[in-house]
Amino acid sequence: MKALYVITPGDDPELEVREIETPTPGPGEVLVKIASAGVCSHDVAIMRGLLRRGVNLDVILGHEISGVVETIGPDVEGLTVGDAVVSTLTVFCGECDRCLAGHEYRCRTGQGLGHAVNGGFAEYIVLPERCLIPLPNGVSVEQASIVACPMGVALQALKDVARVREGETVLVTGAGGGLGIHAVQIASALGAHVMAATYSEDKLPLLDRFAPGQVILGGELDFSELALAFTEDQGANVVIDTVGSAVFFSALNSLAQFGRMVLLGEVEGGRVSFNLSEVIFRDASIRGSSGASKTHITQVLDLIGDGKLEPVISHRVPLADAKDAYHLIRDRESVGRVALIP
Ligand SMILES: [Zn+2]
Ligand SMILES: [Zn+2]
Repeated sequence: MKALYVITPGDDPELEVREIETPTPGPGEVLVKIASAGVCSHDVAIMRGLLRRGVNLDVILGHEISGVVETIGPDVEGLTVGDAVVSTLTVFCGECDRCLAGHEYRCRTGQGLGHAVNGGFAEYIVLPERCLIPLPNGVSVEQASIVACPMGVALQALKDVARVREGETVLVTGAGGGLGIHAVQIASALGAHVMAATYSEDKLPLLDRFAPGQVILGGELDFSELALAFTEDQGANVVIDTVGSAVFFSALNSLAQFGRMVLLGEVEGGRVSFNLSEVIFRDASIRGSSGASKTHITQVLDLIGDGKLEPVISHRVPLADAKDAYHLIRDRESVGRVALIP
């Protein structure tokens, strides 16, 4: 099978498609023919050489994987050949305290796909049956690659971490990105009033469809000024920040009294220093969130099936042209996700 390898990371990385042996499924395992693999900022950071900790360059990248069951190993009971599936983000044990609590993406012995073990930038992958979720009717296998990350990741942040309630105001930063554009839609589906902040003028038309009249273009004016103007100076009940340190102060200044900020991404790897009274006297909370469990994946599939959520993949790029995908994301020319098609 063909698989993509990072030969030399860097701003202009050397990537190569190699022919390797197709893996064979063992007991309880399934061979999946990959239909689509989303390219995450995590993959781009590794290609770019910005993320090195715990990274093994012999590993095939990609943790956003959908495909069709090609063959099944012994003792597989719940899947058959031809089933369309989406994978979890991690190969998990299903038995430790975190798995039993529904946080299998943080399994004690978990191995991240495309990080610790081979991921989806290839023609095939072997995974344990428990790491695959069958797709319901109405969700295409091409769309499904981004159901766990970024869609499930956004759902967990809004629903379980920020606990968004109907009628609240939610500000999403980096709203044109893969996490952002789905966070905007999920916040709406939860009954919130959504404000979508972006710095890219070319992302306005699509964002305006998901957050009509509530798109904030950052630039000359700090977006917190606009967020306050949109909320009669109250600020947002919830800020979903997908950008990180570069917009931290604008995000904090956009937050209402008792507001909750959830940090989902750190694009530039910078640091922030701030006066703690900004948080104390706002009675605010700032939390981090990452990953998505099988429950979130199932909930996202239901929302897509109900027409409340639309997976946004702006570019589908053949595996051999992975470098083009890299440039689209690095140069922020994509809206939502870019996917590799093996
Ligand atoms: Zn991802
Ligand atoms: Zn576990």
